Amino acid sequence: MDLRSDFPGVRDWHYLDSAATAQKPQAVIDAIARAYGEDYATVHRGVYARSANMTLAYEAARRKVALFVNARSEAEIVYVRGATEGINLVAQCWAGTQLEAGDRILLSTLEHHSNIVPWQIAAEKVGAAIDVVPLTVDHRIDLDAMQAMITPRHRMVALAHVSNVLGSVLDCRRAADIAHSGGAKILIDGCQAVPRLGVDVQALDCDFYVFSAHKLYGPTGIGVLWARTELLDAMPPYQGGGSMIDKVTFEKTTYAPPPTRFEAGTPHIVGVVGLAAAIDYVEGIGLDAIHAHECALVGRARAALESLNSVRLFGPEDSAGILSFEVEGVHPHDVGTILDETGVAIRAGHHCAQPLMRHLGVEATARASFGIYSDQSDVDALVEGLERVRKIFG
Ligand code: PMP
Repeated sequence: MDLRSDFPGVRDWHYLDSAATAQKPQAVIDAIARAYGEDYATVHRGVYARSANMTLAYEAARRKVALFVNARSEAEIVYVRGATEGINLVAQCWAGTQLEAGDRILLSTLEHHSNIVPWQIAAEKVGAAIDVVPLTVDHRIDLDAMQAMITPRHRMVALAHVSNVLGSVLDCRRAADIAHSGGAKILIDGCQAVPRLGVDVQALDCDFYVFSAHKLYGPTGIGVLWARTELLDAMPPYQGGGSMIDKVTFEKTTYAPPPTRFEAGTPHIVGVVGLAAAIDYVEGIGLDAIHAHECALVGRARAALESLNSVRLFGPEDSAGILSFEVEGVHPHDVGTILDETGVAIRAGHHCAQPLMRHLGVEATARASFGIYSDQSDVDALVEGLERVRKIFG
């Protein structure tokens, strides 16, 4: 797969931080430029042709997203600012209104802070408690343990489809079956899965699924909450304002049906156009091909790093696109800084997963994450850079 020339952001650079945010193909950059240029107008309100056209594009994008994740209808697709906002929306509007004192929420040890903190805020408001599913020895969410833990008091389960630190892939269908067997709903944080695995929300049988466009080669500031229609129907608005209403009087306001009910204010019109272009781009390559490409690179990177013997790897053998590691005796920030000097960009830190760091017994890890533009030269540069790290630190 040689797509590097499609990405002006990576041509002369070993960019191994796609799990933080992916670089953008020229097709997405062009679509955004057109949407801010000759096509620019607001949506849903204009009586003039350009606004009507932009509205068509905005709603066509919703259909595209619905097909992309195999939703039953585009009314199940809510545009949000990103995964973080999607989870906050569900935590406030579903958990915040459906849970009662004594109810419980189930998370896992490897969750990103954005799939922890919104639930803590909601739980505190209603008097619910949080339980944590542990990990297996090879750093996957332990679904056997989850099965043993779940009780009828558990009303919500929220888990990452792919860990942003370890690359561990969740068996979502089994997790959903376990959640549903106890009567709970399940939210899947698909941030790291959507760019690398084909996602079919009906096959996964989850209730809520969230992701951010910027990790899918699209723009920042736009993301998706997918939810079952009957759940959205029963949820109150997230924010009040223009567009989300049916009728407003000072005595009483009635709300539009979903998804409009959850999209107050002038939306991120250009972001939505960019998201649609990103989906077109990714689908043009095919998620099976992307997944196979990234698995091959991660496999080779794992083998090369293992042979450096002062490097400790985290995560399962079959991690998807993401590889966390530690160089013995060297702080990950120093690893990252030295690699940067050799033109290799990795992430070093807690990756917004402090409970997971505690579980791994480290303060931080170094993380290399791959994308569709990554190739063997990136793996080679990473290995050479790590050899330099070892030389510098003896
Ligand atoms: N969950 C996971 C697994 C992530 O990797 C991220 C982004 N690092 C988020 C949630 C939050 O996404 P965003 O910052 O785009 O809202």
